[in-house]
Amino acid sequence: MTRKLMIFISFISTRYFKKWSDERSFRSWQDKRIINHVNKIRKASLFYKHLWGDIPSSEWRSFPIIDKQIMMDHFDELNTVGVDKESAFQVAIQSEKSRDFTPLMNGVTVGLSSGTSGNRGLFLASDAERYAWAGTVLAKVLPGTILDREKIAFFLRANSQLYSSVQGRTIQLAYYDLLDPIEQHIQRLNEYQPTILVGPPSLLRMLAEAMEMDILAIRPVKIVSIAEVLDPLNKLVIENAFNQTIHQIYQCTEGFLASTCHYGTLHFNEDIVCIEKEYIDRSLNKFIPVITDFNRISQPIIRYRLNDLITEQEFCPCGSHFTAIKSIDGRSDDMFYLPAMKDLSYIPIYPDFITRAILIASNELSEYKVIQWNKDQLEIMIKLRHDDAQGLVTNKIMTSLNELFGRLECIIPKLNFTAYQQPEKGTKLRRVERKWSIDDPALIRSYVSGSHPMARN
Ligand SMILES: [Zn+2]
Repeated sequence: MTRKLMIFISFISTRYFKKWSDERSFRSWQDKRIINHVNKIRKASLFYKHLWGDIPSSEWRSFPIIDKQIMMDHFDELNTVGVDKESAFQVAIQSEKSRDFTPLMNGVTVGLSSGTSGNRGLFLASDAERYAWAGTVLAKVLPGTILDREKIAFFLRANSQLYSSVQGRTIQLAYYDLLDPIEQHIQRLNEYQPTILVGPPSLLRMLAEAMEMDILAIRPVKIVSIAEVLDPLNKLVIENAFNQTIHQIYQCTEGFLASTCHYGTLHFNEDIVCIEKEYIDRSLNKFIPVITDFNRISQPIIRYRLNDLITEQEFCPCGSHFTAIKSIDGRSDDMFYLPAMKDLSYIPIYPDFITRAILIASNELSEYKVIQWNKDQLEIMIKLRHDDAQGLVTNKIMTSLNELFGRLECIIPKLNFTAYQQPEKGTKLRRVERKWSIDDPALIRSYVSGSHPMARN
């Protein structure tokens, strides 16, 4: 089958055929697909075969859960295309250095996921998987059909074979390397005039500011945020500058996880990935997703725990059967912990609580970032629209955060205010970051079943 035909079939099936009359028929369709898939993987992957032992495929929900560490530790036996980790890393790093992303290994594309240097992941994709992926993304992102002319400007950290599959006659795709200077992006965009703009929110934010300054003049019909958490501050600035709802794609090495419906609500792509919810706080609908991709064969992802914290949205007017996401709150290991006032436990503070407390304090904020350095010290980096408001804003943020900490009954930490610094080029923006860990995790207060103080409104 030709490349184009494969993309087209995937597009058509995602856009027009994956429809279910009700939630039950959808779940039963999904369950059947997963059972078929794990039957295949059991034969193809030595790692999973051993991991699952005698557990029947129909009871796949009892398979042990894995994570990135386990996946990387067992990479060679886990993948089904005979790629070994060391050589794959070499190929991927070489591609990144030379900016030539065409080399294949055993017929599959090798990519490097972002992450801190010691924690980088590898991803593999066969041609068939890449084309299916491209068709699915287009089905979920294109405002019209695959036959409409679109010019997509796609900003990413590294180009990869994965993305090159989309180039066609009706759909043009231009890559913008995030490592290039913003002035160059602006000039290229002015010439290219994209109809669809896809990039991380920190970049879209810079483009929004360039729009406000009249140095960028483009009129995209759709804007899609990828790769970083879209926080409410950037969302507001971007939506105002471009005068439209900003859409989102939640995609990582582990798969194409979620995309927005026409109401702008993110829904998990449960037609390709099954989501199990590991609740960390039921009263606040917060969970960590455990994902099972029931299409991917070269690097199977089955019952894989992500490092992301999600708040579920109970309802979306679009009526989709797929789980709706109220917010992606960031990485679960960026959750703050502060000592409790009344006992020796630590109170978890979700990243979105910090974000909200800061944003409601003042609308003078243009940038912010909060870092927990240790159990009693937070650094708050801010940049304001008007410098003379510094003292007032600092006080307001202090009051707002202290009110939050008071409600959560934790000991109020020392707050250090500093000037905002842009993240280094090529690194992801994280508004809330923890750079400290608790010696004894058993001390962390659990809200899995109990009611969280913030839920009692
Ligand atoms: Zn929806």
